[in-house]
Amino acid sequence: MAQCKLRSLYGLYPYKSSMMGLEALADPSSDWDIVETIGKGTYGKVYRVNNRRDGSQAAVKVLDPINNSGNHGRDVDEEIEAEYTILRSLSNHPNVVKFFGMFYKTDNLSGGQLWLVLELCNGGSVTELAKGLMIRGKHLEEPIIAYILCGALLGLQHLHNNRIIHRDVKGNNILLTTDGGVKLVDFGVSAQLTNARLRRNTSVGTPFWMAPEVIACEQQYDYSYDVRCDVWSLGITAIELADGDPPLSEMHPVKALFKIPR
Ligand code: ADP
Repeated sequence: MAQCKLRSLYGLYPYKSSMMGLEALADPSSDWDIVETIGKGTYGKVYRVNNRRDGSQAAVKVLDPINNSGNHGRDVDEEIEAEYTILRSLSNHPNVVKFFGMFYKTDNLSGGQLWLVLELCNGGSVTELAKGLMIRGKHLEEPIIAYILCGALLGLQHLHNNRIIHRDVKGNNILLTTDGGVKLVDFGVSAQLTNARLRRNTSVGTPFWMAPEVIACEQQYDYSYDVRCDVWSLGITAIELADGDPPLSEMHPVKALFKIPR
């Protein structure tokens, strides 16, 4: 399936209050040891790490390298800030990935790495779960799909109660822990609702899962959307879990963007 992720690096998050200075962050090396690579994302790799003090495990999303040469203490870009702010304030919910802190590892040669230390979701994403079964000619059973959707909905309710829209709900952003926990991840394109509705023309989300009103909002200024766009994306995720792929996945993602609003 063709993957096309529309992300805008700037202007995603409408507040400017707490831009972070990197030098204020602790070095991760005294707390965490990298054990192995568990995934690769848009901005860097994800590793399994061990805590040096108590031996507990976690996942670290390493965003590398932040080029701050000659500009020490440069502001972290807004996408990382959105993720950090949401994790810091809203990860106290069983269906949102836990957050253990943000660190900065200085490296004079490459410019330095930003570490986001998260709860380890060893069960992988629900997309991997569904696709793994499909390969063996099986399907996820309805009660399991219902269980996953229930966890994701409770996580979304928590975000929405706090006026945050996730904006990139899809199977790849719902992870499982080994004890059956269902966790929402990836808040890089999430938005704080300052008013009841958003009227922006930033490119966010992943086409096949995007709600028609979000696409319309990108194309025309006088459209707006609200938290309900996450519910649409979760509906698409339900189809993804049952069928292995979202509707229109055989199409080029840009073509799907034109088709969805119709
Ligand atoms: P992207 O930038 O494409 O959204 P991420 O950087 O969020 O991807 O994740 C990259 C990979 O690491 C994915 O396979 C994801 O499932 C995995 N991953 C992300 N966070 C965790 C976590 N907390 N525990 C285990 N695996 C994770």
